[in-house]
Amino acid sequence: MNKKTIRDIPEGELRGKRVLVRVDFNVPLDENRNITDDTRIVESLPTIKYLVERGAKVILVSHLGRPKGKPKDELRMDPIARRLEELLGRKVVKVDDCIGEEVKRAVAQLKDGDVLLLENIRFYPEEEANDENFARALAELADIYVNDAFGAAHRAHASTAGVARFLPAYAGFLMEKELEALGEKLNNPVRPFLAILGGAKVSSKIGVLRKLLEKVDVLLVGGGMSYTFIKAMGYEVGKSLLEEAMIEEARGILEAAKARGVRFELPEDFVVAPEGKEGVETKIVDWDKIPPDMGGYDIGPKTVEKFGRYIREARTIFWNGPLGLFEVDLFARGTIEIARKVAESGAVVVVGGGDTVAAIKKAGVEDKITHISTGGGASLEFVEGRPLPGVEVLLDK
Ligand code: ADP
Ligand code: MG
Repeated sequence: MNKKTIRDIPEGELRGKRVLVRVDFNVPLDENRNITDDTRIVESLPTIKYLVERGAKVILVSHLGRPKGKPKDELRMDPIARRLEELLGRKVVKVDDCIGEEVKRAVAQLKDGDVLLLENIRFYPEEEANDENFARALAELADIYVNDAFGAAHRAHASTAGVARFLPAYAGFLMEKELEALGEKLNNPVRPFLAILGGAKVSSKIGVLRKLLEKVDVLLVGGGMSYTFIKAMGYEVGKSLLEEAMIEEARGILEAAKARGVRFELPEDFVVAPEGKEGVETKIVDWDKIPPDMGGYDIGPKTVEKFGRYIREARTIFWNGPLGLFEVDLFARGTIEIARKVAESGAVVVVGGGDTVAAIKKAGVEDKITHISTGGGASLEFVEGRPLPGVEVLLDK
């Protein structure tokens, strides 16, 4: 890592200092505002505890959902403050704003080691606009800035990037862990290096596909995006997901894989049905025999077997994108079986993408994965090799 982390701040210099930490507490809530998955809060604990134990006054800030620049009661940070309190085992003061007099008073009352959580930062349109005055007002609350919000690091917002213009800026431990896993582990992989790509669309994964072709030995493609490749090879895909506008691009990728000597594998068979929903009649067909009145919603058993052989041989695996419509139990099997095989592979396994992580959890194998990224879009942009604004602004080592 070429960026300074909080470990680079001399320990004595944290005592009594006000440290503004951008965290990613954008957790899923149910209709009663109960947190359904607190992974992102749990993952931020090492940074918070490190600062608390060294006597810093910790000021946390995050976004939650998409309030579109206006206060929304259902997106206030209160349930998160309560969960954080349980997890930390210490009081977390919650304020109902992010800047201004009330917040300044609360900060002034903090004692060494206290923790304060600000309100949802996206209640202000200035956040996403990366407004300079707003960033300055945030910076005025603190002496040091820490970015631990990897999941928001691909955005140049006031709290993820702008604020670093006014304060010395360091990476937190989660940020460091993410950059190491998605950076070093994939850039200097133990070989064979295998990537599994799935998900709905080729269009949202073009950059990642092209970048991975430069790095991997084997690329397995499944899920909704595989049909555009099959069409590009001149076969019909029935009612399966197809991006007409991406057929040429898909052809280009097949050629690039060949030119680079990368093994590019598509499914051998599919689970097809008249519709992608629970309770319909399904059948298994070979990849080149999808009936015109049916669509493919999962990979079939021959594909699981074939992909499984590559997975067993791999020493590094990167996975993004479910291999079928896994939210529907009827079509979750292929993704879940592949998740189990990946978990048992003994390889270094790095998983990114919001839906892929959900699929890993549905398979119940999250404990056996080397690194599960907390960043959906951020993890993909980083693997693509795009600079992340929230990382660029941090102090160089
Ligand atoms: P991630 O969030 O992990 O990056 P994506 O958002 O790209 O993944 O894709 C996930 C979505 O793709 C899921 O909602 C899944 O149901 C859908 N999907 C995967 N395979 C198919 C398929 N064969 N037909 C329709 N949808 C699919
Ligand atoms: Mg997704």
